Amino acid sequence: MKAEIITIGDEILYGQTVDTNSAWLGTHLNAMGIEVTEILTVPDRREAILDALKRASSGHELILMTGGLGPTNDDITKKTLAEYFGADLKRNKEIEEQVKALFRRWNREAAAVNLAQADLPENCEALPNPLGTAPGMFFHENGKVFASLPGVPHEMQAIFRDELAPRLQKLWKLPTIRHYFVMTAGMGESDIASRLRDFEECLPENVNLAYLPSLGMVKLRLTARGRNGEKLDPMLEKLGRELMPLLPDIVYYSGTDEKMSISKAVGQMLLENKARLSTAESCTGGKIAADITAIPGASHYFEGSVVAYSNRVKEKMLGVRSETLEAYGAVSEQTVKEMAEGVRKRMATEYALAVSGIAGPEGGSPEKPVGTVWTAIASPDGVQTKLLHLGGGRREIIQLTSNLTLHLLRRSIQRNEEGR
Ligand code: ATP
Ligand code: MG
Repeated sequence: MKAEIITIGDEILYGQTVDTNSAWLGTHLNAMGIEVTEILTVPDRREAILDALKRASSGHELILMTGGLGPTNDDITKKTLAEYFGADLKRNKEIEEQVKALFRRWNREAAAVNLAQADLPENCEALPNPLGTAPGMFFHENGKVFASLPGVPHEMQAIFRDELAPRLQKLWKLPTIRHYFVMTAGMGESDIASRLRDFEECLPENVNLAYLPSLGMVKLRLTARGRNGEKLDPMLEKLGRELMPLLPDIVYYSGTDEKMSISKAVGQMLLENKARLSTAESCTGGKIAADITAIPGASHYFEGSVVAYSNRVKEKMLGVRSETLEAYGAVSEQTVKEMAEGVRKRMATEYALAVSGIAGPEGGSPEKPVGTVWTAIASPDGVQTKLLHLGGGRREIIQLTSNLTLHLLRRSIQRNEEGR
């Protein structure tokens, strides 16, 4: 199945609106097994839309439009589609009721132009819009589907997901797609790929593996396609289990939750171990604590943080010795070690982490360039330190520090679990 996406709107051509709809639709159509072979943007002009429809209809089974469905005179997609199909506009009672209900919810009276949103070409099926007044339209003519969705991204996405995609799946008996995620931290994608070479070669034909890197992490996505959705999930789980022993030191989650963060995974581990955590942060300025507390329920395992930005705070609040700071500097193994020990003792937690580094862009030196970060994890078994050499700008260095330090904490908790 081949598709063309047509986005309609002067504002896109002027560059005032960036066409994110095409990118979103491209991703979702592709995942359904529909190949997008062309993306076109046309102005809100009758001739341009008619011309685009004529050209797109040869060589594509799906012609998918967004935009130009508003109640105002500049939005002419609906009228133009009616003209293209030689159809009359007819009031759709169900849609009219939905528009009225929406206005009642907003405590306003629906004007005639709003109710006219329910006038649709008589040969189309209406795709109800739960979030706005412009419904989508579904035309099935000569084996081809023409669909028109509103331009507002969240309305377009909701109608695509709830109304259009299920119709296409049924009509064309498209294969079902299932995903499974394995989240890793602390290793680059090429190193992971070399560990997974044999695993990848033995993957079933209907499964593929994608590497999705972000700061300090790589998300592995296993995607399976098939007619029978029920069979795909156990197959993916089995593959996930096979993957695990190949990456025991770096995997922090495996399952279907695409959004699983390392701070959430660490939180679950602390909870299972009935252990609490505190942090002492210099260069991250509290970012690690912010990442931890972004997870609901963090109070069950997170005690607090000292943002020890100055040497004075490192000494007064954490008990770092002035001789240590003088002899080795703030960015040093000795300092982070004392920071972690200090916060662990003062907050009386099983685990504590500390970081001190140079986030830049200024402040680097030949011995300690920007991106030099010392980390320490204090646990019931003592303190472990690690030196990181990070790249990127200030924002990246701070986020990398958070991700990688949480990864080190996870490893420390894991080792303590294994030791018991
Ligand atoms: P409405 O019922 O809200 O008028 P509509 O179908 O008429 O919806 P447009 O008027 O064309 O949609 O666009 C509404 C808004 O949606 C625009 O202001 C723009 O910000 C956004 N939009 C439109 N097309 C796109 C696109 N291709 N990508 C991203 N945003 C878009
Ligand atoms: Mg418009």
